Order: sequence, then C-alpha cells, then structure tokens
Amino acid sequence: MKFDVLTIFPEYFDLLNQSLLGKAIDSGKFGVEITNIRDFSKDKHLKTDDTPYGGGAGMVMTPDPIVSAIEAVDPKHEAWRVYMSPRGTKLCQKKVESLAKEDRILILCGDYEGVDQRALDICIDEEMSIGDYVLTGGELPALVVINTVARYLDGVLGCDESTKEESFSNGLLEYPQYTRPEVYRGRSVPEVLLGGNHKDIAKWREEKSLEITMKNRPDLFKGVDLKLYLPKRKKKHRR
Ligand code: SAM
Repeated sequence: MKFDVLTIFPEYFDLLNQSLLGKAIDSGKFGVEITNIRDFSKDKHLKTDDTPYGGGAGMVMTPDPIVSAIEAVDPKHEAWRVYMSPRGTKLCQKKVESLAKEDRILILCGDYEGVDQRALDICIDEEMSIGDYVLTGGELPALVVINTVARYLDGVLGCDESTKEESFSNGLLEYPQYTRPEVYRGRSVPEVLLGGNHKDIAKWREEKSLEITMKNRPDLFKGVDLKLYLPKRKKKHRR
C-alpha cells in the first residue's frame, strides 16, 4: 500500500516517523510520499490561495496547483483519491477496513476555507470527514486516515489479532483492560480476570462491552444483532 499526500504544510507529516508506524514505513510495510502543492504554483510568490468569488471570510485554495500536483503524482489515476473535508462522508471502522484493501490512496489536504470546487470535480473520487467539527486544515485528518488504515496492513501491528478484538470490531465498544499491579491505590483488578477461566472472562468482557456501549454510544446498537448477546435458551425435547 502506498499513500500519496498533497499538502501545503508537509512538516505535519514528520509525525509519521514516530513509533510503530515509523518502524513499519522503514521496513517497507507501506509507503508515504508527501508532495508540497506549493511546488506546483505558477505564481511568482508561490501563492496557492485567493479570495472567494461571491465574497465571504478567508481564502480559498486555487485549482491549478492542486490539479497539476495530482496529475504529476498520479498521472494514470491509479490511486483512490480522497479529499479530507468536514462535508465528506464520515470515516468509520468499516470504511477503514475497506480502504486498507486499496493499493494506493491519494489524500488531498485542504487549508484556509477549503478548495476550489473545480479541482475537486476534476480530480477527487471521495470527500471524507473525520468527524462533525472543523479543523484548520486537512493534515491532521490525513494523518488519522493513514494511521487507522495502516493498522490493518499486514505486519504493521506487532500482533495482527489486535484489530480483531477492539472497539467497533464487532460493532460495540471495548471492555475495560487491566494490567499489573493487581491492586493500585486500593482498586483491585476484577476477580474474574485473575481466575484463568476463559469462558467466564469472555462472558464478563461481553457484559462490560454491552454496558459501556449502552452508556456511551447507544446509537451503535442500531447495527448490532442483539440476539447474539442474549443468554441461549435450552431446547425442549418433544416426546
Ligand atoms: N469552509 C469549510 C467548511 O465549512 O466545510 C472548512 C474548511 S477547514 C477550515 C480547512 C480544511 O480543513 C478543509 O478544507 C479540510 O481539508 C480540513 N478539515 C477541517 N475539518 C475537517 C474534518 N472534520 N474532516 C476532514 N477534514 C477537515
């Protein structure tokens, strides 16, 4: 998998050198190439924005540097091209899993008041939001996409099982986790986790997962088959 990122603030992506992702990039598990949109500006001051037609606050990114940059980076339109935008469809775990199946993803980061619509109409396959709030630029959203998608790529996480049992993997939120020490500031690890009975542990985790989802995100139950979580009734034998 390769990510191409187009931005006017490439320094944001130095963050990718950190931790697990940095190691995964160094060992070739996936690639990230950052392109500075400003390098494609034909303006003598390398300007990439201008005032909005129709008036209004702020500046809008001009179409030509963006279209030229995208056409230089992905001339045959082989990448799935995404524009990070608060008005896009909201990123969720299912979407992350499907993006992880792409060979190449190009991410356009907007800044200021956003991007001239014509650049989007010419070049972009999908507008994607990371949530119902507005950030100053698309760089942090792009890092969110890279981080979440990379977790699903072979060999990126130390243990590939990590993505199989975590929040959203079965539609619910995760149960509480504990590690050493057994007692911390008078609070003990729940007894059941110390006993080694895997059936009881699984049952406890399932109950906690349901409880936390009900408390924090009852909306998630819409997509879940609750029958799976009801205690199984024994079949009556007919005579
Ligand atoms: N005027 C735009 C609007 O009202 O929808 C907001 C522009 S925002 C200040 C600048 C850039 O930040 C956007 O072009 C986009 O690339 C990025 N951005 C801001 N919030 C985002 C979000 N929730 N998800 C994805 N990208 C976002």
